[in-house]
Amino acid sequence: MITNMNIREILKQKLGCKDEDFDRPMPVPAPWSMPFWDAARKRKLVLKKCTCCGHIDHPPYLYCTSCSEEECEWIEASGKATLYAYAVNVYGVPFAFMEDLPYVLALVDLPEGPRMISNIVGCDPKDLKNGMELKVVFDDVSPEITLPKWKPVSK
Ligand SMILES: [Zn+2]
Repeated sequence: MITNMNIREILKQKLGCKDEDFDRPMPVPAPWSMPFWDAARKRKLVLKKCTCCGHIDHPPYLYCTSCSEEECEWIEASGKATLYAYAVNVYGVPFAFMEDLPYVLALVDLPEGPRMISNIVGCDPKDLKNGMELKVVFDDVSPEITLPKWKPVSK
């Protein structure tokens, strides 16, 4: 039986994969998104808010996608969201993500406005329902990068 514990060794033997084939692509922070990544490392979810029109963009862009102004402020998000849609990945992913199978890719709606692409963690995918309440959690995927992810609010 193939398990996540030995899938790397099997892929190395059967397909000739090398350890670097399992390196994950990492986000590359830009000057205009650095506050988001700095905050995530400190376990805070922040969002970029335009000081001209009030629009909140995520992911953070160089300028406001509503009015094109560059002036912005960073606001701390509530850390709450609702599940808009999700997919459970069970196969057919890049080698770097095979050890995580199955995992949940999701679109989550933040009460502040943005719809974020992320992962749902800490629950059985069978228990997921669109519209369910979520709370943010943080995953240190490297010394530099912490990813906000989401888990269901336990009732
Ligand atoms: Zn704006």
